[in-house]
Amino acid sequence: MPEKLIFELSSPGRTGYTLPELDVPEMAVEDCIPSRFLRKREPELPEVAENDVIRHFIGLSRLNYHVDKGFYPLGSCTMKYNPKVNEVAARMEGFAAIHPHQDPEDVQGALELMYELERYLCEIVGMKAASLQPAAGAHGELTGLMLIRAYHEDRGNPRKKVLLPDSAHGTNPASATISGYQAVQIRSNEKGLIDLEDLKAHLDEEVAALMLTNPNTLGLFESQIEEVKAALDEVGALLYMDGANLNALLGIVRPGDLGFDVVHINLHKTFSTPHGGGGPGSGPIAVSERLVEYLPVPRIRKDGEKFSLDYDRPKSVGKISTFFGNFGVMVRAFTYIRMMGSDGLKQVSRNAILNANYLLERLKPYYDLPYPTRPMHEFVLSGNRQKKHGVRTTDIAKRLLDFGFHAPTIYFPLIVPEALMIEPTDTESKETLDAFADAMIQIAREAEENPEKLKEAPVTTPVSRLDEARAARDLRIRWQPESVMS
Ligand SMILES: *Cc1c(COP(=O)(O)O)cnc(C)c1O
Repeated sequence: MPEKLIFELSSPGRTGYTLPELDVPEMAVEDCIPSRFLRKREPELPEVAENDVIRHFIGLSRLNYHVDKGFYPLGSCTMKYNPKVNEVAARMEGFAAIHPHQDPEDVQGALELMYELERYLCEIVGMKAASLQPAAGAHGELTGLMLIRAYHEDRGNPRKKVLLPDSAHGTNPASATISGYQAVQIRSNEKGLIDLEDLKAHLDEEVAALMLTNPNTLGLFESQIEEVKAALDEVGALLYMDGANLNALLGIVRPGDLGFDVVHINLHKTFSTPHGGGGPGSGPIAVSERLVEYLPVPRIRKDGEKFSLDYDRPKSVGKISTFFGNFGVMVRAFTYIRMMGSDGLKQVSRNAILNANYLLERLKPYYDLPYPTRPMHEFVLSGNRQKKHGVRTTDIAKRLLDFGFHAPTIYFPLIVPEALMIEPTDTESKETLDAFADAMIQIAREAEENPEKLKEAPVTTPVSRLDEARAARDLRIRWQPESVMS
């Protein structure tokens, strides 16, 4: 590795700060802290100068790949550029320095922001009420299914099954299982949409809900939604929307108008807040009239100009997060929505759709397109043609790194062999899209002419091919001081 650990840069006695001379009486540390709490040994911290620290972390950031560095077409993840004004707002002292245990009287501004954000989100998705508590999309799914269970329980039978199409994101069946339901898979048809016949064949009074992603993970709009809704109504099942792809629908279609009962929204995708590497997310859910009373507590209430926390909701599923959820992410999303306005948000979706379709048109001649339906904000190609030359989709993804691009999502959705799922997002220029298309076309050529070269890629990155299974299972990310090792 070209970058040492900061501990390895350490030199005894070197410091990165100077303190002014002590101008108060010195106190022995034993007089302040009971000796049983005092450590017996000096902590082994790196002793480095300020410029060592800066160079170390800037060096690390250059080894990493991120949206501020380049194009990041990771399908489904919506790695769009995050405007820096969001950061300015999130770091305002009044937001950054508040404590969740503060009296609601003292944090009226924060409560107002959350109240307003709930209202904006409800307007955007056409729902009655929302909760900002879930900390991620998957957590929103779980919360939504808890609401659905509470709804059915209220009617005497919590029911047993949750249906989901075979193109669903892995979190969907996981959430269904964790919330105590049996996850039942429904086929996709040759157009890449949910197969209505298969859906109807699985519907009965034990079905609690159908979870549908719209546009789905192939980037396709589920156009039979009215028939789907009617079929569910017949057996009293609810309709859940995985709204991770909402960035295709802003100002164009509202899930509430389509008949969905719950939708989760990934603020960290659609509403431009940094994510990845498990960083903070926020997965609010918005619900139709019939699920409002089950929403988590506390609900934020507005009486006149005053905001308060309402815990008195007897049918609520309770708290599903510590305090209010990830507040910093909410500030960023709020800022973004206010900055864009309704026309701006509509333009976001239109540009996302235009960018995806432009890229698709450029790449179509070189890669297989398993579902020829016109996509919205992302599309899925197959590396089947390249596989005939012994080149796998992994190799294509690795080679892209040599061209300076992050790879698309690969091997998902599971229904596409050798899948390459490409989401350019709304924030990329035609020049960037063209450069990416040129790289993909060049790689398709290399696959035919020099497949061995692709097996060696990447050759320009700090590390090349890792043993991914081992990297995940035998993760060593903690430096151990010698005193502990010995
Ligand atoms: C990202 C995503 C999720 C899960 O969201 P997280 O915030 O990562 O938990 C669920 N469904 C789809 C389609 C997604 O793209």
